Amino acid sequence: MQSSEIAIIGGGPAGLMAAEILSRSGHAVTIYEAMPSAARKFLLAGKSGLNITHSEHSKAFMQRFADASARLQPALDAFAPKDVRAWADELGAETFVGSSGRVFPRAMKASPLLRAWLRRLEAQGVRLLTRHRWSGFAEDGYVFDTPEGRTLVRCDAALMALGGASWPRLGSDAAWVPPLRARGVPIRDLRPANCGFDVAWSGAFRERFAGQALKAVTATSGAGTIPGEFVMSRHGIEGSLVYAHAACLRDRLEQDGKASLMLDLAPGRTAERLARDLARQDRKASLSNRLRKGAGLDGVKAALLRELSQEATRIAPEQLAALIKALPVPVLAARPIAEAISSAGGVRLDGVDERYMVKAVPGLFVAGEMLDWEAPTGGYLLTACFATGRAAARGVKAWLDARP
Ligand SMILES: Cc1cc2nc3c(=O)[nH]c(=O)nc-3n(C[C@H](O)[C@H](O)[C@H](O)COP(=O)(O)OP(=O)(O)OC[C@H]3O[C@@H](n4cnc5c(N)ncnc54)[C@H](O)[C@@H]3O)c2cc1C
Repeated sequence: MQSSEIAIIGGGPAGLMAAEILSRSGHAVTIYEAMPSAARKFLLAGKSGLNITHSEHSKAFMQRFADASARLQPALDAFAPKDVRAWADELGAETFVGSSGRVFPRAMKASPLLRAWLRRLEAQGVRLLTRHRWSGFAEDGYVFDTPEGRTLVRCDAALMALGGASWPRLGSDAAWVPPLRARGVPIRDLRPANCGFDVAWSGAFRERFAGQALKAVTATSGAGTIPGEFVMSRHGIEGSLVYAHAACLRDRLEQDGKASLMLDLAPGRTAERLARDLARQDRKASLSNRLRKGAGLDGVKAALLRELSQEATRIAPEQLAALIKALPVPVLAARPIAEAISSAGGVRLDGVDERYMVKAVPGLFVAGEMLDWEAPTGGYLLTACFATGRAAARGVKAWLDARP
């Protein structure tokens, strides 16, 4: 086999995984990374516990990718959660399954895994050129801005894994959208995913409760009814349970201009039981006392109910019970994409062939979050970035092998 020059543009999880596959098959692989070091978002992901994949049944796992699941399935079947775990293990980052089914490295962090991974890539001959920002196409190659000035890279094939648009200061700033669009690549606008939402809190509620967690609730939207917790922020609501509903709330806001997250503040008790327990309370007692003694609600839960319902002090026990079981939190807007965990949108899946080659630019392949799919948090994002990185790398190989 003849060795080819391959440019991997973007040194995040998807790009590094592609480099691993291609360097193993004997190709000369160079990773071009805009930042002074690779995989900064991967490292950040490890700050709060690197949730590398999920242990749930494969059918449930696939459903997390919604409309994109059928298209991503071959890549995800070829690098399934068990493979992610074996791969991490091989790099010395043994994993465990947390209580929610999410999978984490025992060290919880990304840094030991990344260090071992970069060492292995180097040993396989991968060159990593940092401070090389891809800025556009030339007739015969790819143009990069470097500290030494502009440079032109000619290669046999290129694979872009430039990420989405969240946390742009870590490198993925979506500056790739205009040059790819100009080459006729179909791209769906990037939008926040796994994001917080603005809520019109009163000044008093914000001052007192911003930063506090609302625990042991369920939240319902078109995404279903999901148990969990989230945090009151200065702007509105944030955290894992909100992220699980974020795509649905965002789409509803875009379609209807309004959306609400429906909360059950007392998931362990039925409305009937709550109504009975509340009816037993002294009618003259304060709402706080009735909620605490009759429904077990205090602190941020009781305050949220008061914040969102002006009538709560006046209504009958049955109505109060109904409100506790279905309290709508009206959201005004998704928080900006720069704050989101990930982004939706990107290079449309019908703009790439089954090898992940961009139809409009032969010889250019795409992987990771810059492709148009989204998934909730839970390890799905990294798994799909790894899996598409590998699939696109196999696509590069197949394309090079098929060349005359
Ligand atoms: C706070 C936070 C926590 C997260 N936690 C988790 C988690 O626990 N589990 C999980 O599954 N996912 C998590 N994610 C999401 C996950 O980190 C991303 O989905 C994943 O990193 C995307 O991988 P990628 O390789 O596609 O892109 P990225 O990781 O964004 O990497 C893209 C790379 O391309 C480089 N680049 C961009 N433009 C250029 C250019 N023009 N030229 C050269 N290089 C360029 C960037 O600098 C970057 O290094 C988290 C994200 C955040 C923000």
